[in-house]
Amino acid sequence: MAAILGGGLGGLSTGYYLLKNNLNNNNNLKLILLEATNYCGGWIKSIRTKDYVFEQGPRTIRPKGVIGLNTLNMMEDLGLSEHIAAIKPDHPAAKNRMIYVRNNLHVLPSSLISVFQKNQPFSKPLIYALFNDIKSPYKEMQDDSIYNFVERRFGKEIADYAIAPMICGICAGDAKEISVKFLMKTLFEYEQNHGGVVKGLMKSMFQSKSDTNMDLSELAKKAQEEKWNVYTIKGGLETFPDTLQSYLTDNKVEVNLNTQVEEIQFIDSSCALMRDSKGNNLTANHIYSSIPAYALAKLVRKQHPALADNLNDIPFVTVGIVNLYFDIKEPLIEPAFGFLVPPIENSPILGVVFDSCCIPDQNGTVLTVMLGGRWFKEKFGDDASEQMLLDIAKKEIVKILNIKFEPTAHHVNILKQCIPQYVIGHYERVDKIREYIAVHNLPISLVGCSYDGVGINDVIYSAKKQVEDSPCVTVTKDYT
Ligand SMILES: Cc1cc2nc3c(=O)[nH]c(=O)nc-3n(C[C@H](O)[C@H](O)[C@H](O)COP(=O)(O)OP(=O)(O)OC[C@H]3O[C@@H](n4cnc5c(N)ncnc54)[C@H](O)[C@@H]3O)c2cc1C
Repeated sequence: MAAILGGGLGGLSTGYYLLKNNLNNNNNLKLILLEATNYCGGWIKSIRTKDYVFEQGPRTIRPKGVIGLNTLNMMEDLGLSEHIAAIKPDHPAAKNRMIYVRNNLHVLPSSLISVFQKNQPFSKPLIYALFNDIKSPYKEMQDDSIYNFVERRFGKEIADYAIAPMICGICAGDAKEISVKFLMKTLFEYEQNHGGVVKGLMKSMFQSKSDTNMDLSELAKKAQEEKWNVYTIKGGLETFPDTLQSYLTDNKVEVNLNTQVEEIQFIDSSCALMRDSKGNNLTANHIYSSIPAYALAKLVRKQHPALADNLNDIPFVTVGIVNLYFDIKEPLIEPAFGFLVPPIENSPILGVVFDSCCIPDQNGTVLTVMLGGRWFKEKFGDDASEQMLLDIAKKEIVKILNIKFEPTAHHVNILKQCIPQYVIGHYERVDKIREYIAVHNLPISLVGCSYDGVGINDVIYSAKKQVEDSPCVTVTKDYT
């Protein structure tokens, strides 16, 4: 029997790929999924009403690259094609992404022509940043922070106004701490192998692209042909984990909710014992852990303290989410994806997503304000309340967007330790953890955002890879 620890997207995707693998190989694998809460989906949670959808976690998915296409293949296989709402290149949410600098909103350049023009808040046309990269000397490094890398290659303004807010948008993190080798691997390799980003990019244009040797579903082909920017799911992203969970249960996976695993004891290379909060013991031939690294650290500490220490070295940050709905017919915002606030502005908010522009069928204006992240404790202290975050979010909305109406509905959530931070050396840290597991022959695979990337695509691809790389699991039922 194989046990999947955690019922977020990582755990559900692991179940999906194990089932696919199982069917292909005619195995008779017994699968069990253990989820601590009463819900499968992890951070993916949507509140749906007839007037609006509030997304409390993720809302959009990128269709590009191997991992983006892989997710679309899965979506089609699950019968979700009809539910997808694509944002194509001519959509305002694709064209208008803004930053808030010195009390003003500025649209970030998105066309080739704008590279040659001066766009506020940048003091020169962006083409100068490219010249800077071409003439800057190459520096051999094992890894670096994204901020240092971009400042070195493209200048301080690009680091402050384009990249630092982008990192807030991706992982609510500080670009001065996040690993360039992990989050911008290709650009870092261009510098390390070719002496600069532009030089590397030029050379790569003459090399053959092995982007998509995988079979593409009709949905993935459509996304490529129509050049989707991002997409979401009509009625809320929660439909995705809901459908995955049904797929698992329809295929006889035992999904156990309200089952928090509290300890793991590894017996040998094909047997592990898990104890849950109800005092049940479960043995499995192999464990696929998709729970956050810090949560797994607690479960293995007794038997493997060194492994627990390494798992705890992956930091996480807390994010405040304030969803606001305005039942006003006239448009309250310019159509755009939303805006991010560069950390240099020292604002209490990370950014605002204009959900009524990105998510279809909203009856009015819907905004989501994101707060805290890497700076949560510094800005809001240890006892931040939901009311406090709501008040701050509403004040910033009045100040920045000049919306004077009271929201008709709101929802506030403090997502504790929700996003991992891929700080400098993340690759090596994860290698060390997986090496420890291999050297000690522990029957466990590590899946999910703690290790292999923050986005939905990364988590699904992580599950696929870990299933492909894990030993063939055999069937025995032993639930005492
Ligand atoms: C606010 C926010 C916005 C985001 N926006 C986007 C976006 O727009 N696009 C995008 O691509 N990605 C986005 N992401 C990232 C994406 O949501 C995550 O990467 C993904 O959902 C993580 O899935 P996971 O399965 O790895 O982890 P989780 O969702 O954390 O799932 C882990 C599960 O394990 C369970 N668990 C924990 N401990 C135990 C235990 N001891 N026993 C049993 N179960 C346990 C938890 O209850 C949880 O259900 C966002 C994330 C957040 C937080």
